[in-house]
Amino acid sequence: MVVTESPPERAVMETADEALPVYRPDREVRARRPLELAWRTFAHIFRQKFIRRRERFPLVTMLEPLEACNLDCYGCGRIREYLPVLDKTLTLDQCLRAVEDSGAPIVSIAGGEPTMYKQLPELIEELVRRKIFVYCCTNGLLLERMMKRVPPSKYLAWVIHLDGMETQHDIAVNRKGVWKKAMRASRLALEAGYRVCSNTTLFRGSNAEDLHQLFALVTDMGFEGVMVSAGYDFVDGPVQEMFLSREESIKVFRRVLTDEAIDRIRFYNNPLYLSFLRGERDYQCTAWSNPTYTVQGWREPCYPLADRHTDDVNDLFDASLWENYGVGVNSKCANCMMHCGFESAIIYDAFSSPRSAADLAKGMVGKRAGVGAS
Ligand code: SF4
Ligand code: SF4
Repeated sequence: MVVTESPPERAVMETADEALPVYRPDREVRARRPLELAWRTFAHIFRQKFIRRRERFPLVTMLEPLEACNLDCYGCGRIREYLPVLDKTLTLDQCLRAVEDSGAPIVSIAGGEPTMYKQLPELIEELVRRKIFVYCCTNGLLLERMMKRVPPSKYLAWVIHLDGMETQHDIAVNRKGVWKKAMRASRLALEAGYRVCSNTTLFRGSNAEDLHQLFALVTDMGFEGVMVSAGYDFVDGPVQEMFLSREESIKVFRRVLTDEAIDRIRFYNNPLYLSFLRGERDYQCTAWSNPTYTVQGWREPCYPLADRHTDDVNDLFDASLWENYGVGVNSKCANCMMHCGFESAIIYDAFSSPRSAADLAKGMVGKRAGVGAS
């Protein structure tokens, strides 16, 4: 599998219609990860672990103000799991209280499609005012409209859901034309000075060559980074065959995360998580790092799996809860390799072992990857 040497956008543009944004390599629009994010994350973990002596604490609050969406992707568990409450939304106060209760310095706004949440501009404005780093995950369909109401900030990044180049992505999201709209919005966002990342979930049938093209394209467009994750086998998923077992995921990731690809592409995930996905490292999940607040309360135990919901975020840090979850402990965790469970495990591990810290630092300096946020 070879990562394209020249940017693939030229070929893409030749077959594109006029609505597609034109790639102009002479224009530098590279989004950059703020240094403040790294030192604030470090300070937060240090304070929680060594000063407050907490064994379990959050790093990223996953906030889902609504579960409704304007798409119907094959791999989506959320819009099916929350079907009876798709009309419900959190109030702005509920969102801000959840962020306060969690206390994490980073908030990932997801859903559902957060740009459909009427108070998203006010929510982002308030979080930015509090200097909380916000990653807003979107399929991009309403992003152009949203950019008119939300100014760029170093505390805000749009995370664009892209599961492949045009054909593959439009199949994954079950609607033609979505890729072009998302790419156009991404281009405009970069040109307007927003931080922009991409987020790709791998399933059975993910095509390594197609993903290499996508990753090279967004790297060349100036995206701040490419986030990848394994899909979780949601019981509510409509096409169960698309979910991969742990062994199958590792095989697919070995084809996608080649050394060549890691050198060429600006990954946002931390480099040891990429090694984990390739089956070269083992970690136990630390999903309490990403408490997830929804219209039904905090998901317990984690972002992909909700055996119940709770009103108290502190329930998610209780040792007794984690006696029942994790790989090798609970069958529902057997195939899980999601970044919300394992990327943080690598970061926490680096704080416990000088050798792990050195490995992480070496990987981050040697590769172009960093520390993912969600
Ligand atoms: S865009 Fe996201 S929330 Fe909407 S259906 Fe697809 S995966 Fe689900
Ligand atoms: S391993 Fe289990 S507890 Fe951990 S993130 Fe995955 S599903 Fe959740």
